[in-house]
Formats: sequence, C-alpha cells, structure tokens
Amino acid sequence: MTSTTRKIIAKASIASALSIAASLGLAVTVVPMLGGVVDGNAWLMCILCPLLIAWPASAWQFWQAERLREARNEIARLHGELSEAHAAAVEKARRDGMTGLLNREGFLAAVRKAMAAGEEGTLLFVDADHFKQINDRFGHPVGDDALRGLAMAIAGTIGAGDLCGRLGGEEFAVYLPGFAASEARPMAVKILEAVRRLRIDVAADTAIALTVSIGASVQTGGLTLNELIAEADEQLYKAKTLGRNRASFAPDVAAVA
Ligand code: GH3
Ligand code: MG
Ligand code: MG
Repeated sequence: MTSTTRKIIAKASIASALSIAASLGLAVTVVPMLGGVVDGNAWLMCILCPLLIAWPASAWQFWQAERLREARNEIARLHGELSEAHAAAVEKARRDGMTGLLNREGFLAAVRKAMAAGEEGTLLFVDADHFKQINDRFGHPVGDDALRGLAMAIAGTIGAGDLCGRLGGEEFAVYLPGFAASEARPMAVKILEAVRRLRIDVAADTAIALTVSIGASVQTGGLTLNELIAEADEQLYKAKTLGRNRASFAPDVAAVA
C-alpha cells in the first residue's frame, strides 16, 4: 500500500468518525426533543449510515483531490521542461553550429539591441586571409579546424560585454559597445596579433599560421546598422587591397597593422 493510499484511508476514516459523531450528537439531542427514544437501532443507524456513506464518499473525494494535485504537479513539471526546451531552441537558433559563436542573425540582433541601448560603438568585420588556399592545400576538415581556432582567438581577445559572431564562411564580426575609434583600434590590433599567434595542426609535426583583415566602422551617433555594415565592408575591402593582415578604420583613421 502506498503512502498516498494510507493518507487517503486515514483522512476518510477521520471524516467518517466526525460524521458518526455528528449523527450521534443529532440523534441524542433532536430525537428526544421530537418525543422519540434513542434505542439500540437508532445507535446502530447513526454509526452504520455515516460508515457506509461518508467513508466511501470522502475516500473518493480525497482520491480525486490527490489525482488533481498530481496532475497539477505534472503540468508544472512539463511547463518547466517546455520552457527549458524553448530557451535552448532559441539559443541554438542564434548560434553557429561549428564555432559556437552567434550566427549572422543572432549577432545582428544583438548589435541592434546594443545600438539601441547606447550611441557609441565600433563594428569590426574580421575576414580570414586567403582562406580558400587552406582548404585547397590541406582539405576542408583542416579548414574547419582553422575556423574554430579563429573563433576562439577572436572571442578570447574581446571583453565579456563585447559581441562576437560568425557572419558566414570565413567571415567573423565583433561589436564593441561604447568603444570610440581610439579604443577600438588597439582592440583590432590585439585581434590581429591573437590570430597571428594561432597555429593550426595540419599533420603530426606540422602547423600553419593564419592572418585576418579587419574593416572597422565607428558609431558616433546617427548611423543605422546597415550604414555601419556598409562602412565596415568598405574598410575590409581597403584592408585587403592594402595587403591584408591589417585593420582599416574609417573615415579619418589610417590602416593599422
Ligand atoms: P581573401 O583573403 O580575399 O578573403 O581570400 P579568401 O580565400 O579568404 O576568400 P574567398 O571568398 O575567395 O574564399 C573563402 C573560402 O572560405 C572559400 C570557402 O571554401 C571557405 N569556406 C567558407 N565556409 C567554410 C567552412 O565552413 N569550412 C571550410 N573549411 N571552409 C569554408
Ligand atoms: Mg577571406
Ligand atoms: Mg570572405
């Protein structure tokens, strides 16, 4: 017998005992007032009726209440599980599967939010240099390792409040909320250096180095996200044409290497 069943039996028994007591109480007070006599049969009826009616009825009611409580608990548990699954699905939808960084949509949504919260900030487009050659020479799996390495190098360089995403292919992006050009430039240099230090194993005793080019655009107020993106793209193109492995800032800031 489960503890729940024992509890239901106990509660039903208490309810029946109270019913018997009430019946007896009524019998000994009301029946004499009506001129009757409380004899053995009356006593028997006062005990039997509540036992036969109140006990099953209250046991049934307590059992239903218990089922209702269990159902409520189950609903609460399922609701919790559903909320967790929903939060995990939302998080997964905004992440890049290979690197774990924010994906394009997740990154841009986060930048939009950061831009709404404060005026200043710097956007960096970070594009791997001559990445196609890595795939061509060492194969796609090594290329994938290199992308994961790049993601770690970039994400490991920026601060906790900064945003980092993989826009697609070998293109990454960083948003530095609150960073003016003067603060963003050293951060861009740090990213260049972190990538230069990176080594990707291509064989048991061979590793290769990588470089990236960075295009920057600085939000000082008034620029839309699309304008920031267009500017960073243009500066990235400049960094590439100037020889790669460098960062280019607009409009008045020269390339840094
Ligand atoms: P640039 O310096 O001008 O940026 O040259 P690049 O070779 O890096 O640029 P390009 O756009 O010519 O080539 C990008 C390469 O990135 C081509 C593509 O095969 C590779 N790539 C894109 N996504 C992935 C990926 O998920 N895994 C791997 N291994 N390679 C990828
Ligand atoms: Mg590239
Ligand atoms: Mg590219």
